[in-house]
Amino acid sequence: MTVSSPRVAVCARVFPESLATLEAAGFSVHAHHGDSALQGDQLVAWANGADALLVSASSRVDAAMLDQLPTLKVIANIGVGYNNIDVAAATARGIAVSNTPDVLTETTADLAWALMFAAARRISESERWLRDGQWKSMALDGWLGVDIQGSTLGIIGMGRIGGAVARRAMGFGMRVLYHNRTALPAEDTPGVTWVEKETLLKEADHVILVVPYSPATHHLIGANELALMKPTAVLVNIARGGVVDDVALAHALQSGQLGAAGVDVFENEPNIAKELLAAPNAVLTPHIGSATKRTRLGMVDLAVTNLLDWQAGNALRNSVNG
Ligand code: NAP
Repeated sequence: MTVSSPRVAVCARVFPESLATLEAAGFSVHAHHGDSALQGDQLVAWANGADALLVSASSRVDAAMLDQLPTLKVIANIGVGYNNIDVAAATARGIAVSNTPDVLTETTADLAWALMFAAARRISESERWLRDGQWKSMALDGWLGVDIQGSTLGIIGMGRIGGAVARRAMGFGMRVLYHNRTALPAEDTPGVTWVEKETLLKEADHVILVVPYSPATHHLIGANELALMKPTAVLVNIARGGVVDDVALAHALQSGQLGAAGVDVFENEPNIAKELLAAPNAVLTPHIGSATKRTRLGMVDLAVTNLLDWQAGNALRNSVNG
C-alpha cells in the first residue's frame, strides 16, 4: 500500500537534491538546515507528528524519544553503523529502521589508510612543528616514523570496510592478519589470515579497527589490549567511539607504550578526552570516514531510497530490523 503525503523530519543538514527527491515523491519535508544535527528534545519537537525520520549518526534516537513520537513508522539512518538508534525499542513499536551499507565502504577504507600513514609517518606532528617555525635544519635522526611497506597489518572487523582495507594492503606487500568472531572461508579472504585477537595485537605493526559498536565491542581495546601491542605500533580507530578506551589509549601514547594512533571516532564525540587531545602522537579527525561529496551524497540518496521503499509499501532494501 502506498502512503500518500507522509511527513518526514530531516534531522541533519542534507543535500538539496536529496530533499528534492523526497518532495518529488510526495513527502512533506521538514528539513533542518542548521550546522549541528538535532538532538534530544529538539529532535522530538522537530519530528512531532512525523511518519518518517531521516537522521545521521550524530543524532541519538532512544526509547524515551520514540515514546514521544507515536506517529513514527520508519527511521532511515544515514550511515552503516546504527548504534545511535535503539533498534530494539523501534522494533517493539513497529518502526522500521534502515542503514546505508556499501556506498561508503571504499571511502572509509581510504580514510583508514590516510590515518595509518599520517600516524606512522608523523605527518600532523611534524607539520605542527614546521608551522611553529621550529625547523632549523634537517636532522637525519629527526621525525623518524615506521614503515608501512612490508610490515604486518592487523584488521579487527573483516567485513565490508575491513575487506576494502585489506585489498589496499596487497599493493604495499604487507602481511595481513585479521580477527572476527567467526573466521571467514579461506577462498573469500585470499592473502589474509585469521588469528585470535591477542595474536593480532602482539604481531601487527599497524592495527585498524572496523567493527560495529555494541555491548560486545565496548572497550574492545583497553589498557590490557594496548599492553600487548608493540611499542612502535600504530592503532587506527575508524570504527566507533567506545570501541577503544580513549583515556587508556592516551596514556599508552604518552608513556611510549604505543607508537602512534589515528582516531576518527571518539567516546562522547564531539567532546574528546582531554588526555587524547594532549597526546602529540595521535592524529585526530572529526568523524570524516565517509566524508567525500560523492559518498555522502550516495549515503543520503540510499537513505532516501529506503524511505521511498517504505512509502511504496515495500520491504526496506537496507532494513536492519527485518
Ligand atoms: P560489516 O560489513 O558488518 O563488518 C563488521 C565486521 O566486524 C564483521 O566482519 C564482523 O564479523 C566484525 N565484528 C563484529 N563484532 C565483532 C567483535 N565483537 N569482535 C570482532 N569482530 C567483530 O560492517 P562495515 O560496513 O564494514 O562497517 C563496520 C563499522 O565501521 C560500522 O558499523 C561503523 O560503526 C564503522 N564505520 C565508521 C565510519 C566512519 O566515518 N569512521 C564510516 C563507516 C563505517 P563477526 O560478526 O564474524 O564478528
